[in-house]
Amino acid sequence: MVGKFVDMLTGGARATDPVCGMSVDTKHPGGGSYEYNGTTYYFCGRGCYLEFTEDPEGYLSGKKKMEM
Ligand SMILES: [Zn+2]
Repeated sequence: MVGKFVDMLTGGARATDPVCGMSVDTKHPGGGSYEYNGTTYYFCGRGCYLEFTEDPEGYLSGKKKMEM
């Protein structure tokens, strides 16, 4: 119930950027989206998008983390 209520307030679906962990609006992802293995991933910015498309397995397995 609480989750649904929050979704209504924020205006819809959000996804987690697999590179930096930020919450991204799936309707307006700043870095676009990328489909991999049947799952669509969303990115906060172009940098994260490029990082992920270079090595999706690295990020999905948790081996790779963005270095700040
Ligand atoms: Zn990001």
